[in-house]
Amino acid sequence: MIKIFNTITKNHEETENLGFKFSKQISKGDIITLNGDLGSGKTTFVKGVLKGLSYTEEVTSPTYTLINEYNALYNIIHIDCYREKKIDRWLNIGLLDYFETDGIFFIEWAENIKDLLPKKTIDLFFHILNSNDRLIKYNE
Ligand code: ADP
Ligand code: MG
Repeated sequence: MIKIFNTITKNHEETENLGFKFSKQISKGDIITLNGDLGSGKTTFVKGVLKGLSYTEEVTSPTYTLINEYNALYNIIHIDCYREKKIDRWLNIGLLDYFETDGIFFIEWAENIKDLLPKKTIDLFFHILNSNDRLIKYNE
């Protein structure tokens, strides 16, 4: 049961705080998709999730690495499909093996790998309202 949406955040700290709260509501094996334009706050939200799971080291965007894994209170796997649309490439880097683990998955631009997703996802939507306001929604 996800309780924190719909919310408007007014700066990146508020989006991180929302991620922090969200981290208390997830379970092993969850696959969360983060949908919205570049700069809408998806990665910022994941930073907050990791804070909420007692991860104190640096969290960076997986834009170029494609997959970042964090050994936090849960194993968090942060995936960014923006730059790579080729399914073969995702298969070659072992994406399906990640889904066999008991991690929790946060996926940006998940539509690019939608045929590889093994189960129902929790979908969050990020909207840019203006330079600082973001509307963050959860559609059940
Ligand atoms: P995405 O992963 O969706 O491309 P990022 O989280 O990497 O987006 O970047 C969001 C950018 O928007 C950052 O530069 C951040 O400082 C800025 N920003 C401005 N207002 C907000 C807000 N309310 N929430 C999140 N980020 C914001
Ligand atoms: Mg991002």
